[in-house]
Amino acid sequence: MKTLDNYNFENKKALIRVDFNVPLNENFEVTDTNRIEAAKPTIIKVLEDGGSAVLMSHLGRPKGERNPDLSLKHICATVSDIIGVEVKFVADCVGEEAEKAVAGLQNGEVLLLENLRYYAEEGKGDENFAEQLSKLGDIYINDAFGTAHRAHASTTIVAKFFPNAKCFGYLLAKEIDAIAKVMQTGEKPVLAILGGAKVSSKITIIENILDKVDDLIIGGGMTYTFIKAQGGEVGDSICEDDKMELALNILKQAKEKGVNVHIPVDVIAADDFSNEANTQIMDVNKIPQGWQGLDAGPNTLESFKSVILGAKTILWNGPVGVFEMESFAKGTIAVGNCIEEATKNGAFSLVGGGDSVAAVKQFGFEEKVSYVSTGGGAMLESLEGKTLPGIAAILA
Ligand code: AMP
Repeated sequence: MKTLDNYNFENKKALIRVDFNVPLNENFEVTDTNRIEAAKPTIIKVLEDGGSAVLMSHLGRPKGERNPDLSLKHICATVSDIIGVEVKFVADCVGEEAEKAVAGLQNGEVLLLENLRYYAEEGKGDENFAEQLSKLGDIYINDAFGTAHRAHASTTIVAKFFPNAKCFGYLLAKEIDAIAKVMQTGEKPVLAILGGAKVSSKITIIENILDKVDDLIIGGGMTYTFIKAQGGEVGDSICEDDKMELALNILKQAKEKGVNVHIPVDVIAADDFSNEANTQIMDVNKIPQGWQGLDAGPNTLESFKSVILGAKTILWNGPVGVFEMESFAKGTIAVGNCIEEATKNGAFSLVGGGDSVAAVKQFGFEEKVSYVSTGGGAMLESLEGKTLPGIAAILA
C-alpha cells in the first residue's frame, strides 16, 4: 500500500484531498472538529519533511453554486488552531487565483482551497476539472475516506494525473487497514454484529459478510423480519414482509457456510414508539398486536455477551435498539460494554457505517474500541465488498 511513508516531501507541494465537511453553527463556527483532527497527522508529516500542503475539500452541498454560507474560509481559523500553522486561504479551487496562491507557497506553509463543490464538475468527475486541480501540487495524497466511495474529480479522477506520485494519507490507510483486519486477515472467531432498522439496507452487507465471519449477531429492527419469516408473532414491530423470503434464504446460506447466527430471544416491547411508552419484557416470538419490540431483552443480552467475549475480531454496524430514546438504549450500551471488554482482552473491534458511530460517540465508547470509522457510506460500501473508486485510483 502506497502511503506517505514512501515519500519525502522536502521542497514538494502536496495536494491533499481531505474531508473537512464539518458541521457549522449559525455563526459559522465549527461544532465538531473530529474530521480536521483526523487529517492532522498527514499534514504534519508533509510539513515536517520540509514540504508544503495544499488542502482541498468539499463542505455541504452547494450543487455547483458559490454559496457563501458553505465557504471553507469559515473553517480556516479552526484548521490553523488544530494544525498549529497559520493556514492561508484562496477563494477558488482551480484557475489563475488558485495557481498563483500555490506558486507563492513556501515550505512549511499550508493553503486551503475554496469548496470543491462550488463547481458541478467536481461531482461529475470531470476530467478537465481534475486536470486543473492536478496543477496545484507535485504529489497527490487522498486522505478523505468519507468520500472515497465517490468517483469525483478530487477523490478519484485527479489521481490519473499523478501516475508516479500518489498515495494514501494516514487516515485513509488506517481505514483500509481496519477493514482488511475484519474482512481478510481477522483472527478467528470473527463476529459481525449487524443491527439498525431494516434488512433491506443491510442485505448486501449480510450476504458479503457470510463468507468472512464465524458468528453473526442480528439485532435491532431487522430482528422482526427474521422472526416473522420463521413463524413468530411480532405485533407492531418494524417488519419488512417483502423481505421475509430473503431472511430465510440468509439463514439457509449461513447454515451452509457454517456461520452461527444469533437472533434475539426476548425483547423490551413498548405499547407506543415513544420514550414514555409502557414497556414489558417479552418473548421475541410472541409480541401481541399493540406492542412493538424496541430493544434487546435480558436473556438476549446474556447470550450476545458470551458470543462477543469469545470473539477475536468484531465488526459492529447498527444499534440493537432505538438507542436515541433512553428507555431503549440499554441493549446498545450493553453490547458496547461487551465489545469494550473483548477489546481489553485483545480482540480487534471496528465500529463503522451509519448510526452505530453516532451511538458509540453518544455513549463514550469511542476510545474503548480498536477503531471507529470516519466514513458512513464509504464504510457501508466497503462492507458490501465493493472496491471504492478513491482507493482503486491510488492503487492503479
Ligand atoms: P441503521 O442506520 O440502519 O443502522 O439504523 C439505525 C436505526 O435503527 C436507529 O435510528 C435505531 O433507532 C433504529 N432501530 C434499532 N432498533 C429498532 C427497532 N427495534 N425498531 C425500530 N427501529 C430500530
